[in-house]
Amino acid sequence: MLYDVIVNGKLIATVGPTELEHLSISVSTSSHDGGIPFIMANGMSPRTEDGKQTYTTWLENELSESDRIEIIPSKTTNPSEALKIRKLKRGVSSSKEDKFCDFCKQDETVVGPVIQAGETPYICKPCTELCIEIIKGLESQT
Ligand SMILES: [Zn+2]
Repeated sequence: MLYDVIVNGKLIATVGPTELEHLSISVSTSSHDGGIPFIMANGMSPRTEDGKQTYTTWLENELSESDRIEIIPSKTTNPSEALKIRKLKRGVSSSKEDKFCDFCKQDETVVGPVIQAGETPYICKPCTELCIEIIKGLESQT
């Protein structure tokens, strides 16, 4: 299934399909960008035998605070043309343009530098901060 992303009643992209390993349509803000809200739609293809995957970005748009967003199942069978498609090979040191956070699936250019320990997934600063908050919450329960 595909999804239509509609902003203020206007179709801005059709994204999917949901057979992807990971499909994410999100509205977020980042202190890196001065808290300006933005909408993103990204999808990760299933991994092939040799560890290759593609990461497709359909949407990367700034929003204004009054924008009304709708995400509805699409009646069409073709997604919009991708803004960018990156080839990834996971488990192998990524080249600079391949780097993205494995937690929020966002690009280094969006979330700032991402770090990695050995062959583990990458993580960005906002996700690290969220993890600290989660751990603090867990600690306070004990
Ligand atoms: Zn992240």
